[in-house]
Order: sequence, then structure tokens, then C-alpha cells
Amino acid sequence: MRIINHKYISIALAAFLSAQVFSVSAHTASPENAGGGLYLVESQDPGFLETLAGFSSVEYDRGRTRLVKLTVPYDSLPDEIRAKLRPVSPYEVYNAPAVLSQKESILPEVLTLVSKVSADRIKASATAIAMTGKRSAAQLDVTSGSGNKRTMDLVADTLKGLGYAVERHCYKDRKMDKECNIAGYRPGPGTDPKTVLVAAHLDSVGYDNAGADDNASGTAGLLEMARVLAGYRSDHALLFVATNGEENGIVGAYAYAKKLQASGGMGNLAWAINMDMIAWNRDGVVEIETNKEFIAHADWVGTMAKLYTRLQPHVASPAWGSDHVPFLEAGVPTYLSIEHWEDHNPCYHKSCDKPEGLNWNFAADIVKLNLAVIAGKTRLEPARD
Ligand SMILES: [Zn+2]
Repeated sequence: MRIINHKYISIALAAFLSAQVFSVSAHTASPENAGGGLYLVESQDPGFLETLAGFSSVEYDRGRTRLVKLTVPYDSLPDEIRAKLRPVSPYEVYNAPAVLSQKESILPEVLTLVSKVSADRIKASATAIAMTGKRSAAQLDVTSGSGNKRTMDLVADTLKGLGYAVERHCYKDRKMDKECNIAGYRPGPGTDPKTVLVAAHLDSVGYDNAGADDNASGTAGLLEMARVLAGYRSDHALLFVATNGEENGIVGAYAYAKKLQASGGMGNLAWAINMDMIAWNRDGVVEIETNKEFIAHADWVGTMAKLYTRLQPHVASPAWGSDHVPFLEAGVPTYLSIEHWEDHNPCYHKSCDKPEGLNWNFAADIVKLNLAVIAGKTRLEPARD
């Protein structure tokens, strides 16, 4: 196993950025420069980045982690720009290859588990989801036969067919239909309520028969994890949540987190996993994104990637812009597994985000990684009937 310590990269980065902080604060004293005037950019939308470039300079750009400084006063920014900028401390920022643990070794039963993952099934599910039509939640305002509605039904039927108790968690009435998350649940044995949650958003930005990578791929990955785990007993409850409205501001995941808070279920979550864009590959890198306090956990996830897949794991912080955020904000150890952003899908948020050209073996490796993580934290036994 290759063990390389890259922590020094982060330390050097923090030192570099804090030097920038001091040089800025020596000259300016306005409130928006508290923390050095560094902002995390909470969007990778190409149009947004082009607009933002007119108001800022890029200070750091690695993977999904982009930091800018403003070249105009914060208060003069348009609201839609301000909404996607978060003041950030250099000490929250981390983006480096995972630091691997030497304590872990390959377990035959986990190899057996991950060998059950089928790239062909993931491809077939993702293609079926991508071809449902227009999957933006806003389409529920336009037509009751939208791709969003069809995808909710497809996910609900699949989870039900696998034996999970399916809940339509509807949090918003649209003109033509309701906007819902689709959750599949299986209780653990006995009275221990500890639960592992797997999330992926089923909606897209709304181009017709598109959104294959973002995020039919992650939704198909969720269904494949549910299929493989249906063949195992686990000592944790399993909760698969295909979220809606992610592209409209993580709406479904926030609504689901609120529901879990109200019911006390949030306290039962042992940890959570998010998959968002898992099928574009150039260099084999998977980003494991979380917040600073869970970087050691993410490094351990990276170790699972090294042991059980061909992926090159990178760890990134802070978390932003997808369904892992509401659970991290609630204090649950959560990570996003996502394709490498440095050479990312050129069809991101475009009508050309189609199944062709995606890499389903790479997607299968991310599904294997997330199953190996569950096996590493939960006792799994093949189910016998
Ligand atoms: Zn997405």
C-alpha cells in the first residue's frame, strides 16, 4: 500500500492564505474583510463563474474548492452573487490526496460484497432515469407527466421491489404535482436505532432526457447499493433517500433533515453518504468532501477506496452545494463522493449531459467504495432465507 503524507500541503496552504489575510487586513477594516476577505464559491455553474470573474480574483482553485477575493465592495454585489459566496477561514480549507491508514487490510468478505456491484446495472438505471424527460422539480409546475414525477415513481417502485419500506416525503405542493423525496427504509435488528443514510438527488437542472451524470448516475448508484445490501443483514438500519429539488437550493435534503430533527431521527444517524456526479472520469480521482472536523473520517474512507477499488481518493473541505451539507450542519459525519472536478465533465449543467461518454466502471468503483465503508462500520451478514 502506498502511504504518503500530504498534510504539509494543507499546512503550507493555510500559511500562505493567512499571510494573505494579514496583508489584506493591514490595509482595510470593513466588516466584509473579517477573515481576510476570502470567500468560498458555492457554485461551479459556468455562467455564474463567468459573472463572478468580473467582481473577484481567484486565490485558490483545486478540485471543487475555489476561493476568491472581491475586487469590489461586498455590498455592491448583486444578490445572486452574494448568495453563492461564503466567508471562509483558511483553516477550514483542505484539498489533498487521502492520508491512508496502515491499520486496515483487505477482508475477503468485503471483497465478496463489492464484487456484487454491476456497472451494467448502474448504466441501465442511470440511462432509464436520464431518459424520463425533464427532471427539474420546477417541471412539476408545468406538467404532471414530467421526468421528475416519473423518476420519483421509478425510484419508489425499485426500492419497494427490493423490500424496503418506501415513504414519499412530500414537502411542497407544485401546480401539477407534489415535490417529494423518495426514502427507502429497513430497520436494524433489535432495538438499536443506529442508522446509516445514503443520499443522491434525483432531480436535474431540467434539460430534456439529460442530467445523466448530474445526477442520474448517483441515483443509480443509490439503487445499486440498495440492491446489493438487500442481500445482507446489517446491525444498522438502512435509509436510502433519493432527494428532490437539489438543483433549486438543496431543498429536498434540507426538508428531510428538518423532518429527521423533528422526529428525533437525526440523533440516530451514525453517519451519512452522498453521491452526486459519479460517472465522469479522466484520472481515476474521487473527491471525498466533508467539513474540517471529519477529515480523519474522510481519510479512512480514502483508505477503503485504496483497498477495494482502483480509485485515487482525494479529501476536500469545506463541504458545499449538495445533499451532504444539511447532515453535516446537524453534526452527522457525512461525506460527498464525487468525480474529480479538476478535469470535470464538460457537459455539466448542459443539455449534452447524456449517458454516452460516461464511465460506468468508474461509477461502479464509487458504489463499491461506499459499500466498503458501510461494511467497515456495520456488521453485515449474507441473508439466508
Ligand atoms: Zn448534482
